[in-house]
Amino acid sequence: MEKEKILDLFKSTGALQHGHFRLTSGLHSPEYFQCAKVLQYPQYNELLCGEIFRHFHDWRVDLVVAPAIGGIMVGQEVARQLRVRGVFAEREDKTMSLRRGFEVKQGERVLVCEDVVTTGGSVQEVVELVKARGGVVVGVASIVDRSREPINFGAESFPLLKMEVPVYHPDSCPLCKEDVPIVKPGSRKVELSAK
Ligand code: ZN
Repeated sequence: MEKEKILDLFKSTGALQHGHFRLTSGLHSPEYFQCAKVLQYPQYNELLCGEIFRHFHDWRVDLVVAPAIGGIMVGQEVARQLRVRGVFAEREDKTMSLRRGFEVKQGERVLVCEDVVTTGGSVQEVVELVKARGGVVVGVASIVDRSREPINFGAESFPLLKMEVPVYHPDSCPLCKEDVPIVKPGSRKVELSAK
């Protein structure tokens, strides 16, 4: 899929929104991306994950592991297309763990799948978890990579789309200067543009 087609899909489903947003980090941004908005349509999830499938289908993947919660829908769809097991890791006392009887068997070739990679922290934890159980991480796939610096997971990295999002400190935000009303993503409430 071409980058433009992917972006169109993000925009038409509301996954990618333009405006003036206050991110959880406290920084301001003219863009907000919520991957779940596009993945909620199984046909689009199938389409996007199809690209990951095409990239890794001959890598002899045995198992897909995804960090919860964001990675679950991607991991499940990629596993379905690859016809392999798909499991997810979740936090237990702040540590990424495999629960629910999920296993990584010795020597299994693992593809780690995530929706959005920002710092890569959760993915890295899953990579370590898989290795600690004797698995071999062959790749890391994501729908969107928003990392500022390239991240080395020690395996083939395949982000469907690299997306750099401008962020501003509230004190130097050009949108604040123009008095554009600010929105906290996830809520419909429009706040005053006060810093
Ligand atoms: Zn602002």
